[in-house]
Order: sequence, then structure tokens, then C-alpha cells
Amino acid sequence: MANKLFDKILIANRGEIACRVIKTCRKLGIKTVAVYSDADDGALHMRMADEAIHIGPPAAAESYLVIEKIIAACKQTGAQAVHPGYGFLSENRKFAAALKEAGIAFIGPNPDAIFAMGDKIESKKLAKQAGVSTVPGYLGAIGGTDEAVKIATEIGFPVMIKASAGGGGKGMRIARSADEVAQGFSSATNEAKNSFGDDRVFIEKYIEQPRHIEIQVLGDKHGNVIYLGERECSIQRRHQKVVEEAPSSFLDEKTRKAMGEQAVALAKTVNYDSAGTVEFIVGPDRSFYFLEMNTRLQVEHPVTELITGIDLVEQMIRVAANETLSIKQEDMKLDGWAVEVRIYAEDPLRGFLPSTGRLARWRTAEESNVIRNDTGVVEGSEISMFYDPMISKLCSYGKDRAEAIATLSAALDETWIAGIGHNVNFLSAVLDHPRFRSGNISTNFIAEEWPNGYGGTVLPEDRQNSALAIATLIHIRNELRARHLGGKLGLPDWVPGEAWIATLNKQDHALTVTDADGGLDAKIGKGKALKVRSAWKPGEPFFRGTVNGAPVVARVSARPDGVRIVHGGAELDVAVRTPRAAELARLMPEKLPPDMSKYLLCPMPGLVVSIAVAEGEPVKAGQALAVVEAMKMENVLRAERDGTVKKVNAKKGDSLAVDQVILEFA
Ligand code: ADP
Repeated sequence: MANKLFDKILIANRGEIACRVIKTCRKLGIKTVAVYSDADDGALHMRMADEAIHIGPPAAAESYLVIEKIIAACKQTGAQAVHPGYGFLSENRKFAAALKEAGIAFIGPNPDAIFAMGDKIESKKLAKQAGVSTVPGYLGAIGGTDEAVKIATEIGFPVMIKASAGGGGKGMRIARSADEVAQGFSSATNEAKNSFGDDRVFIEKYIEQPRHIEIQVLGDKHGNVIYLGERECSIQRRHQKVVEEAPSSFLDEKTRKAMGEQAVALAKTVNYDSAGTVEFIVGPDRSFYFLEMNTRLQVEHPVTELITGIDLVEQMIRVAANETLSIKQEDMKLDGWAVEVRIYAEDPLRGFLPSTGRLARWRTAEESNVIRNDTGVVEGSEISMFYDPMISKLCSYGKDRAEAIATLSAALDETWIAGIGHNVNFLSAVLDHPRFRSGNISTNFIAEEWPNGYGGTVLPEDRQNSALAIATLIHIRNELRARHLGGKLGLPDWVPGEAWIATLNKQDHALTVTDADGGLDAKIGKGKALKVRSAWKPGEPFFRGTVNGAPVVARVSARPDGVRIVHGGAELDVAVRTPRAAELARLMPEKLPPDMSKYLLCPMPGLVVSIAVAEGEPVKAGQALAVVEAMKMENVLRAERDGTVKKVNAKKGDSLAVDQVILEFA
């Protein structure tokens, strides 16, 4: 029997969002068609779908963004509707119109709503008319630098210069003085022209210590629109979301209702008929201002689903099939708390540069009623340079904020990614940060807490002590096993109950260890005994157990003389030795790492675009030395200190590996 919604849906996207849409289609008994580029041949979304159509070369402009190819794939497979996911063609009015023309349903809003909300200047004007509070500013394109300075002075500093066609944080500058406006105006204009082919910029008030809070709306084709609470996305890096949660720890019922009603009013003015998001910036006094409306499913939609129990993709499909919304505003209840972290293939220790390559390992906490893992890759998948380097959206649910954060933090401890750079340790550091836990956050959180970038996580003393005790248990079990396998030959002469020295970052910690049922009790110095219990066996990649009764998960691997332990975002190399062995180890000459400060190294695999200096040239700290392109982004490498170039080892057009020497300094 034919499905009363659709028999077959094509998903014009890839990665996690394509997989996520396919899951709901399956639940609804709808067949699915995936599309894939050469780079995605064999990808998870392609394998999950009932059918898959090849649509061309890796570059999105030649595959996922080609409207005719998507429509041809629908015709070939008989798909009656298309879900666009986010990004790609999701907010492309021409695409929505072309589908309509071809008699294929677009699982998204009507083309006019996409158009009306597609431009920041135009959508702000509409919002203002609909009675939505907007950021004070000048709602028009600005002709030149003088005009920009004049307008900024009228608005009052600080101001934000923004590209009207903007997205993804591009073409955006904060200016705190007339000089900065002049500078910001020309760079924002250039960036807007290069990124969007549209150089219109406008100026608005910059809200200090802002929080980003957005309202999820849902409409149908019969004039009904409701709001499904808010999401807070204040944890951002360069205006890009990193951690999201629902609800927001900042809103009271009154503000929530006011924001929700304004979002619905705006949606109604454009006859909004799908899932959409109205973004607001919220000041420290809870004054809120409309930023923009996203006319698609949002990356961070899972946190809303977790606290409302509503499947947003299902609702999008139902309203696209002309159904009337069955959920009423008064039925909406927000229950509990959900948090999402975006796991990216990027290297936080190198300024978050994107990382590419094969995911040699990809494991995380198992999905359950409190853990959700939206991913589009499996162990062995390739993270290519062609698309967004997202590995997963890992989400947790709890009865309150503290519980949701603790669950997600523990899930990150169970996450193991290898083969490429990733931000898991950084995400752990954010979730464990006392300021994040307090809820006192703003969009400046990351910049304020890591002003010099992220350089690794240092655990608080109690957690570090637990890690040392765990390392000791692991080391003893490894040794016991080695002794069992190899007899006593060459092994240290020890019995449990003796003293041990755990060395971390060249610091010795004396442990007194006593054997206990299922583990050991370890006293560090004069501290209280830590009771470590675990069924961990040599060779297992994860330690799962308890320390003084509290559950702990850590990734562990054996190292010569000790254990590497990854926990709470910290990577600890702990040497565990008998006091005698530790004494001898102290006598060993220290192997110093080579001094690399005299070299400019390539921070990621990439292509040399230009070298800005010549041999013998003196350079100043901060001066641009070279430009390297990776993942279609140009990265300017700068001098860390004053010096003189001794040798240039690379030239324009060279393709360099990570850590390859570009320049040598005298
Ligand atoms: P994009 O479409 O490029 O993502 P948005 O307008 O949605 O741009 O803004 C992205 C982020 O920039 C916001 O989440 C917020 O952190 C910051 N931002 C934008 N406008 C303002 C403003 N007027 N004051 C303070 N912060 C702002």
C-alpha cells in the first residue's frame, strides 16, 4: 500500500545529516535515495539508503550543488520528495522552485520564505515590521568608508560590520573606533565579495557579553506555527558554534515566551511552513534582538528533539505532505536538559586547523536513552578536504543541566579517535570548565578562557591523583601479566603493597599501594587512600572502573615504564616505577627534544601559496612569512619573534607535509 506521506524521499546531502534523515524515513516506512560524489563512494549515507545515485566529482559545486543533477536523480528513482539537510541547497530558493516546477515536494519552507529570510538586511526590515526586536543599527547597504564611519558613530561604539549575504561567520568585524570601522569596512566588503559574490555590508550595534539563543519554530501549510523552546549556542569559536544546549540556562519563562511569540510572529509574516530557526542575540540584561532566520533544519536540532520528544525531520516530512500540525503550542513541554558537542577533524593545538585523512579509530559511548551520536562516518572512513570536517554531534540528555553535562563529559572520556587530529580533548576541557558548568557564559567564553589558544588540558589535582592511581593499577596488572608470561627473568623484584613512584611531567609522586579485592588502594604522599576498582585486563583500550566509588572511564595504553592515560581531556604519560628504578631513572641523561624554535614548520599538509621573505632578510614578530593553503583556506604563517631568515626551504606550489621545514632562522 502506498505510504500516505511519501513512498520515496531523496536526500540531497551527505554525511551525518543524510544519515539522520534516512533514520526517520525508515521509521516512517519511506524508501530513501542517497546521492554521492566520487569522494563519497562507499560512504555511510550511501550505504544506509535503499538506493544511491552517483552525481559527479568531489567538488560540491560539481555534485551536491548542481540542481539539475538532483532533479535528474529524483526522476530516475521516482523519488517524490527531497530533504535538503542543511548547507548545500537547503536555503536555495531556485532549488525549491525548480523542484516545485518538476512536481517534486521540497521538504522545507516555500521558496518565498527562503528568499525573504535569505538576506540579512531584508529579513531585518521584515522582522522590524512584524514587531520583532532587532539590533539597533542601520538597515541599508553602505556605500563607502566615510559613510560607514558616520553611521557607526551615530549608532555608538562598539559596532558590528556584517555582510548582508553572510553566513558561517564570514564577512563579520567588530569595530570599537572610527579607525577600526574604516579597516573593518573594507575587509568585510572584500570578504563578502569573495565568499558570497555580494559585497553589501551593513552596520549594527555590537551587543557586549552576548549570548546566542535561538528559537525553533515549526509551521504547516495551513497557517499554523508553533515554537519548540530555545537552544543556547553561546559557546562559539570565531562566531561558529561548538557546544549547544537546550534549554538555555539564562532564560526565564517570561523571556522565553516573549522570544517564542516574536519568532512565531516573524514566521507567520512569511507564511513559514516547515521547521526553521529564529536566531537572537541576548544581552546581559536579557534584552534580546533578532539576528537572522535559518530556513532549514539546524545542525544543533537534536538538543531540541531530546527535550521535546519531537522528531523534527518527521514533522518536516508531514507538513511537506500537507498534513496539519498535530502539536499545539499549549502541548509543548520542555522536559530535562540536552547538550551537544560538535566533534570536528581539526587540531586545537595548532589553532584548530582542519585535519584530513583516514579515521583509523572512531569509537564513542554507545547510544542509549541518554546518549545520541549523530555521525556520518565509521572507523576506516576518510575525512576528505572537500566537505565540512565534522565527525559527529555527540549529545546527552539529563534531568537537569548538571546531569546532562556530566553524562556528556563521561561520553567524551569513552571517545577514541585516531588517525587524524580532533577536538575531543578541547571539548572535554570546555564541558569540565567551572565557568561553563556555572552557566555564566557568553559568545566570548572560548576567547576569554583560552586567550592564547588551547594548549592542552591540565587536570585539577584530585583528578590527576586519580589518574596516577589508575596508571599504577594498570602498570601493576601489565607487569603481573608479563611476569606470568615470561617467568621472573629480567623483571623487577616487587610485591604489591610496596611503594611505587609515579612520574608525571618530571615530577615524582610517591604512592603506597595495598592490594584490595578487585583493585588496589593507593595513598599519594600523605593524602587519603584512593580506592581504585576495575575489571580492566591488559590489552583493553579503556579502563572502566571506580575511584572511591565514583565511575571513571579513561583510555589507556602501555608505554615503556608506564602508562599513557587520556581522561578529562588530558593526555598523561605516567612512568610507574619501583623507588629503586625511579632513582636510577633520575640518573639517566635526559633526552632533550630538538630545538625547533629556529624553524618555521608547516602546521598542516598543504600547498605553498607564497613565501613572503627572502634569505638574509630580518623579520619582526607577527610579520607574515608564508601562506599555505589547506582545505581551501589560506593560512598566513607569521613570525613568533624577531629574527633573521637564514634559509628558505620551500617555494610557491610546493606541496608540504605536516611539520616540514619551510624556513630556517639564524
Ligand atoms: P552568520 O550567518 O555568519 O552565522 P550571524 O548573524 O548568525 O552570522 O551571527 C553569528 C554570531 O556572531 C552570533 O552567534 C554572535 O556570536 C555574533 N554576533 C552577530 N551579531 C552580533 C551583534 N550585533 N552583537 C554581538 N554579537 C553578534
